[in-house]
Amino acid sequence: MSRSVTIQKNPFEVMLQQLDRASKLLNLDKGIINILSHPMRTLQVCFPVKMDDGRIEMFTGYRCQYNDARGPCKGGLRYHPDVTLEEITALAAWMTWKTSVVNIPYGGAKGGVVCNPREMSLGELERMTRRFAAEISFFIGPEKDIPAPDVYTTPQVMAWIMDTYSMCRGYSVPGVVTGKPLSIGGSKGRDKATARGCVFIIQQAAKELGINLDNASVAIQGYGNAGAVAAELMDAIGAKVVAVSDSQGGTYNSKGLDPAALLAHKQQRERGTVADWPDGDRITNAELLELDVDVLIPAALENVINSDNAERIRAKLVAEAANGPTLPEADDVLFDKGVMVIPDILANAGGVTVSYFEWVQNLNSFFWEEDRVNSELHKVMTSSFYEVYETYKKYKCDMRQAAYILAIQRVAEATVARGFFP
Ligand code: NAD
Repeated sequence: MSRSVTIQKNPFEVMLQQLDRASKLLNLDKGIINILSHPMRTLQVCFPVKMDDGRIEMFTGYRCQYNDARGPCKGGLRYHPDVTLEEITALAAWMTWKTSVVNIPYGGAKGGVVCNPREMSLGELERMTRRFAAEISFFIGPEKDIPAPDVYTTPQVMAWIMDTYSMCRGYSVPGVVTGKPLSIGGSKGRDKATARGCVFIIQQAAKELGINLDNASVAIQGYGNAGAVAAELMDAIGAKVVAVSDSQGGTYNSKGLDPAALLAHKQQRERGTVADWPDGDRITNAELLELDVDVLIPAALENVINSDNAERIRAKLVAEAANGPTLPEADDVLFDKGVMVIPDILANAGGVTVSYFEWVQNLNSFFWEEDRVNSELHKVMTSSFYEVYETYKKYKCDMRQAAYILAIQRVAEATVARGFFP
């Protein structure tokens, strides 16, 4: 996806700020905070790839294993020209809190390659992926670190990594990555899991806030994997999706939009957009965020709710399908206004949860039907929501701090239980 908005803050500093807020409420030991403020291991690789025109190009890639106190490291791999070590480290930390808040037995990791996949041929992409996979193959593995798709990496990219890793080992190792195609051990339901998990969370939050989702108005920023599926699923439970957007702008119709028709319209052309949907009024992304709706789902970019617009957010409930859409200063404003923000580490944890199910299925060589995947996901998301919600009531803080408290407490507890080697 395009990330045209300037990232105003070093994401690792944002993560440290969030960690600091939660650890103060928890009164955590300084030594433990120190451990949680540092990545455990980071690998940086520079490697050559032969391009189609015969040139040799050098690429830089990273894999950060932030913390494995609770289990093997888990996290996506992104291909983007703006990938930096700071961003990868922050994302690896967020994965640590995310796997902890939904209580699946993983730590956190993230990886990335600095590249522009949109300007590469399929052959170049495959050669780059396979060489990167070979470079990090000693670092990853089903028992230590399991990559998955993220920005601009696909099930096909995961298939190449799985194959390269398996070639290096001499036998097939499907559990080394998740988000694979179904034909090589992917899980049913993985493609819609992030949005489905987000909708399960919205249903519980709406119950607690007294929002009747039947006919409730919903605005969604971003119409990709997370946003378009969230629109489809919100519509399916009877809510009214009144506004959606993508990188080219948005569309609004107070009577409600048809998510499936909008997706077909967007997909009709290369670089198609929801913004020119004939059945709606054109709006900007900034206007979409400030609509008077019951539920707002940011499902595109980082830092879109910030000190500039937080005061004008009118939604009653914000569910962060995207990673990092709200800056810490905006959290305070929204909390004071009585807007409930379901933080990314909870709201979009459905993806990693079904990735965990995929890994479990791979280790057992026994595959589940989609109904089972969705019902296990429902259990995890619902119980996680209530654990965070109880923490929120106990500490009288916002939902983000509550999620951090729960997540950090679990990682801290595991760290102390394991003790300090040697
Ligand atoms: P995607 O590439 O499928 O879709 C992104 C959407 O955002 C596209 O519609 C794109 O047009 C839109 N977009 C890009 N720039 C924009 C801008 N300036 N303003 C408005 N919209 C813009 O990506 P995705 O997989 O849907 O991921 C979206 C967010 O959700 C990311 O933050 C990602 O980290 C997070 N997320 C995704 C998953 C998943 O399983 N897909 C899991 C966890 C978190």
